[in-house]
Amino acid sequence: MIPLRSIRQSPESIHYCPSGVGGKCRGRKRCAIVHGVSHNCTAQAAGLDPTLVAELAAILGSDGVVSRSAELKVYECDGWTIEKCSPDVLVMPCTTEQVSAVIKALWRREVAFVPRGAGTGLSGGALPVNAPVMICTSKMNRILSIDLANRRVEVESGVVNLHVTNAVKRDRFLYAPDPSSQQACTIGGNIAENSGGPHTLKYGVTTNHVLGLTLVLADGEIVELGGPAEERCGYDLVGAVVGAEGTAGIVTRAVLKIIREPEGHRTLLATFADVEAATHAVSAIMASGIVPGAIEMMDQLIIRAVEDAFHVGLPAEAGAVLIIELDGLVAGLDEYASRVTEIARHNGASAVRLARDEAERAGLWKARKRAFGAVGRLAPNYATQDGVVPRTRLPDILRAIQAISRKYGLAIGNVFHAGDGNIHPIILYDEHEPEEVRKAIAAGREILAACVEMGGSLTGEHGIGVEKQGEMPLLFSPEDLIAMSELRHVFDPLERSNPNKVIPRPGSCVEVAAPHRQVPI
Ligand SMILES: Cc1cc2nc3c(=O)[nH]c(=O)nc-3n(C[C@H](O)[C@H](O)[C@H](O)COP(=O)(O)OP(=O)(O)OC[C@H]3O[C@@H](n4cnc5c(N)ncnc54)[C@H](O)[C@@H]3O)c2cc1C
Repeated sequence: MIPLRSIRQSPESIHYCPSGVGGKCRGRKRCAIVHGVSHNCTAQAAGLDPTLVAELAAILGSDGVVSRSAELKVYECDGWTIEKCSPDVLVMPCTTEQVSAVIKALWRREVAFVPRGAGTGLSGGALPVNAPVMICTSKMNRILSIDLANRRVEVESGVVNLHVTNAVKRDRFLYAPDPSSQQACTIGGNIAENSGGPHTLKYGVTTNHVLGLTLVLADGEIVELGGPAEERCGYDLVGAVVGAEGTAGIVTRAVLKIIREPEGHRTLLATFADVEAATHAVSAIMASGIVPGAIEMMDQLIIRAVEDAFHVGLPAEAGAVLIIELDGLVAGLDEYASRVTEIARHNGASAVRLARDEAERAGLWKARKRAFGAVGRLAPNYATQDGVVPRTRLPDILRAIQAISRKYGLAIGNVFHAGDGNIHPIILYDEHEPEEVRKAIAAGREILAACVEMGGSLTGEHGIGVEKQGEMPLLFSPEDLIAMSELRHVFDPLERSNPNKVIPRPGSCVEVAAPHRQVPI
């Protein structure tokens, strides 16, 4: 049972720095994570009660607690590497009961915590901002039950995404949400971020595949939300926790839906002279009524990086390629493939190649899913943005990205879920050049502002984390943000679980990464 708890705030008490160029920080400075400099990092500044570490070790055993600073360095950031801050202590529980005991010990001492899965998040969600203790689920990695008849599996939250599909593959089932990081990221992280992937165009994102959750609240209480049944009445509390980015507590178990593997696939590689033509093809395919399993786009910068890295036979001179996958019953797939080929050609595709066999199909997906890795060859650092626009505005947003790239003199590559209008501009920079860091952040902010202006959103799947907190007011009014805070407070009234994330808070200051990104709120 969740007690209904809320803390009221007045809209006037929230104010933002709309330009992002600073302003007076109101209230106590809560966190300062400055690029490359750990300055007044809250985890350190708070100082940890020495008896707490002893109590945590008593709960978990000494191998469940990491407190040496050299080892903690590994956990100083997630995939959003612009900002860094190590926790004071990291714990690795093995069971829900251990998570609960740990959190009760923290609650008694008024210590906040941050959940962490595999640390592949791209918005700084697992950064320990004002949270001295990091709770990592990597040891909670058991698949608890597989129920093919009811098409569901129960897993612990530290299970790696791909391991769910691997466990049911033999019986020709799969877990549909397939982030490109699926070889590493955990189900808990997926639930927190409401993750998507190439095939969520047809099958839906994480929230469409979670039936039930075990959640440990910020005071250590264990609650069960949802359950194994498909249809439920009452408010959708599972839906409220999915996408809450760890601000509702720690998910320790989940009941997931699995689906039957499609009978067949037709995977096409369409080559275009430029991204504009490719995006028109995307809109035309969707308008035709065909819903492919996936439509993914790569632009020239990414095609070359992937080809140089993996030699999978992508057309290195192309301005853009689309990977279009049709799946379902074998009967009819060839006809759909012909229609999609026709539409792509009509929209300027110079070539459309059908993967001849499973090996060729796997090669194309390998290329797409390893694109981020290949980008590492192009620059010392990169920041992956995640915005959304209505599908028909893809040409406009890609033009805007090109203009922003020119304005800041930074190369920006694009590899994204085109069918969903979910863009991932990858901004290349060098973290040793402070001016480049500043420009990379400013460029990212302009891209997000353009997405919002075009009727889109700040995130398709990577979440808000710390990265985009300052941009939330572009999309939401103060009243909206207060309503969100009140919902959060139902689960965590004192904001002890992943504080200073997602919702900008009144009376606090989140100083993010670069001097021009101070957001007093
Ligand atoms: C190369 C690469 C490709 C990617 N591709 C995609 C993609 O295609 N689609 C996509 O959606 N994302 C993608 N991502 C982003 C990332 O993999 C996802 O956000 C993923 O869900 C994060 O999982 P994680 O286990 O690494 O979580 P972490 O990074 O450890 O944490 C992410 C957030 O979840 C919270 N959290 C973690 N575990 C729990 C828990 N048990 N209970 C409550 N809160 C928790 C953390 O506090 C944090 O806020 C990609 C990342 C990389 C590096």
